[in-house]
Amino acid sequence: MNQEFEQLASQLIEAGGNLAAKSMVPATSGNFSGKLANGDMAITVSGADKGYLLPENIMRTNADGESYDRRVPSAETLLHVQIYKQFPHVNAVLHAHSLNATVLSQLAQGHVVLANYELLKAFPGVDTHDTQIEIPVFGNDQNIPRLARQVDKYMQVHSAPVAYLIAGHGFYIWGRSVRETLIYIDAMEFLFSCELMKRRIMQ
Ligand SMILES: [Zn+2]
Repeated sequence: MNQEFEQLASQLIEAGGNLAAKSMVPATSGNFSGKLANGDMAITVSGADKGYLLPENIMRTNADGESYDRRVPSAETLLHVQIYKQFPHVNAVLHAHSLNATVLSQLAQGHVVLANYELLKAFPGVDTHDTQIEIPVFGNDQNIPRLARQVDKYMQVHSAPVAYLIAGHGFYIWGRSVRETLIYIDAMEFLFSCELMKRRIMQ
């Protein structure tokens, strides 16, 4: 284990505690990764409780998500791989199953539009409330290679989304660091709860 890996692993462990405290990784759901300087990933092993991660629950894979030992990385590793390959500046990918994301992803048709919110300025490249961002919603699929291909196809033709939802499942979100990505999660969750509240009132 080198120092770079250990530092990244401890940031992922901390992120797990943070997200578990906000009830965003119920049961053993969610998975987290960070990118190392040589392109390898530090990623959560399959099945661990994300609120109580131990150093041995974070493993190293190559840039294609292949294990260096016998441990099995998260079942959704290929979705992390897709994001790192698509966005070279990204160094962290966090996946969580928040209540808001799960419900909203089932109500939305194809995408969620977030418009005219001050908090949109939390996202990269946004400097005014007077705009909108589109969060795509992909159908859930237990076939992760097929889901990764679908996400990849979307990203080849649409401008870079800041995150995406999987219907009835949760969200994937990414950033230049674990800390930055946690801030994006806070902003996204707040906006998702605004959207859900608006739908409730307007019903
Ligand atoms: Zn999941």
